[in-house]
Amino acid sequence: METRAVIIGLAYLVSAVLFILGLKGLTHPRTAVRGNLLGALGMLLAVVVTLADQGIVGYWLIGTGLIIGTLIGAVLAIKIEMTAMPQMVALFNGFGGAASVLVAGAELIVKSGEEGVKRGEIVAGLLAGLIGAVTFWGSLVAFAKLQEIPAFKKPIDYPMKQAGNAVLGLVVLGLIVLGIMFPGTVWFYFLIVIVASVLGFTLVNPIGGADMPVVIALLNSYSGLAAAATGFVLDNSVLIIAGSLVGASGVILTQIMCKAMNRSLTHVLFGVLEATEGSATADEVYGGKVKSTSAEEVAMLMESAQRVVIVPGYGMAVAQAQHAVRELGELLSARGCTVEYAIHPVAGRMPGHMNVLLAEAEVSYDDLKEPGDINPMMGQTDVVLVIGANDVVNPEARNPKSAIAGMPIIDCDKARTCIVVKRSLSPGFAGIPNPLFALDNTLMFFGDGKKAMVDLVAALKEQ
Ligand code: NDP
Repeated sequence: METRAVIIGLAYLVSAVLFILGLKGLTHPRTAVRGNLLGALGMLLAVVVTLADQGIVGYWLIGTGLIIGTLIGAVLAIKIEMTAMPQMVALFNGFGGAASVLVAGAELIVKSGEEGVKRGEIVAGLLAGLIGAVTFWGSLVAFAKLQEIPAFKKPIDYPMKQAGNAVLGLVVLGLIVLGIMFPGTVWFYFLIVIVASVLGFTLVNPIGGADMPVVIALLNSYSGLAAAATGFVLDNSVLIIAGSLVGASGVILTQIMCKAMNRSLTHVLFGVLEATEGSATADEVYGGKVKSTSAEEVAMLMESAQRVVIVPGYGMAVAQAQHAVRELGELLSARGCTVEYAIHPVAGRMPGHMNVLLAEAEVSYDDLKEPGDINPMMGQTDVVLVIGANDVVNPEARNPKSAIAGMPIIDCDKARTCIVVKRSLSPGFAGIPNPLFALDNTLMFFGDGKKAMVDLVAALKEQ
């Protein structure tokens, strides 16, 4: 092997080790920043070596792409609201899929004109087209749902969704077989991409409500698998490794999300949710039963509490109330009260959303508890303070006919007193009313999350 190839191989190996160390670092908040840096360093090395290796690449073209991409990325990064990060991540996954479709397609076209295109490369290329197109269109639908674009809030309805998906799946598999049998015909690639694009849309369209986290994790995994398949077409080992790592970690995250939601992957992908079918209407749930409270009243309740559990949700992210929440926690702890934070795995709009926000506010990681650890203690909790959470504390999950049936929740209804901070009685992401708000032991503290926390801290300090 020539020296150049050895050096490139070794550099790719170092990149791969850095990716793995990076992923290892990302498994814990304390080491996450270092992990991120190691991963980025690995990617920088891989990109530089790949560019140096490809003598035939027009650098001016790469440079132009780099400048345009950097400009778009920088504007987006500066302008994007923190609460819109999940949509942004969905777009990233989608663009990863689209890049695989374009690169694998271009390489197949070039190679199919040459003699000796390997069968393995054809299989990988067609798979990259299939998975990449499903990822791109599926991620665009996921983006529209997370952005709460009205037309996508509820699944677009049409008959025989499942049967339609099965037919599309069979067609695309048939096209792959034909594409392998007739390797010189690039038309099969285009047909596969078209059918897979429709499939990406129809697969994600019916999924919604509380099942979205699973889909996002799965699309993330698909984008990695598409990249790995493209790596085989390009014969680029570092792309195969990076893609496989993303694919594998995405599959693990999907599994964790499924477990957290008490769902099977088959249920999420093929169980079309008929939302709210078995749930009561908002009028039936709330009519005349909701009691509101004030900062002063909540401060009085907290004053005498021995044990307080804080349950954050998406509304805390919207209000950017995490610092005020930390201040409240510290104030209560200083008065001898036990304060814990109950973190539901799908609270917010992306995996680990609440952990990231509370870590930013420097809440001790040891005080963050999972539902399985906190629920048995709910009976001995004086006050549970729900801030901007809704679906993850909705007892409707115990109703087998509800749209969120079976999803594990934080049992706030079992605490002595439950205070819910939100602006109105609007539903959460799953779009169903929450009977917790109408319980005898619940008080609604209406208002913006941050303002409510600041008022509460001020009222507590005055006591
Ligand atoms: P929800 O979406 O169920 O509820 C959030 C609540 O926050 C709303 O009811 C809203 O009520 C309130 N809110 C919004 N803005 C403010 C504000 N400024 N101040 C105070 N409250 C506010 O959130 P949860 O965290 O309980 O549940 C997450 C949901 O999102 C689940 O259904 C989950 O499946 C889904 N999801 C999660 C993802 C993840 O990876 N974690 C990804 C995609 C979806 P109001 O308007 O009345 O204030």
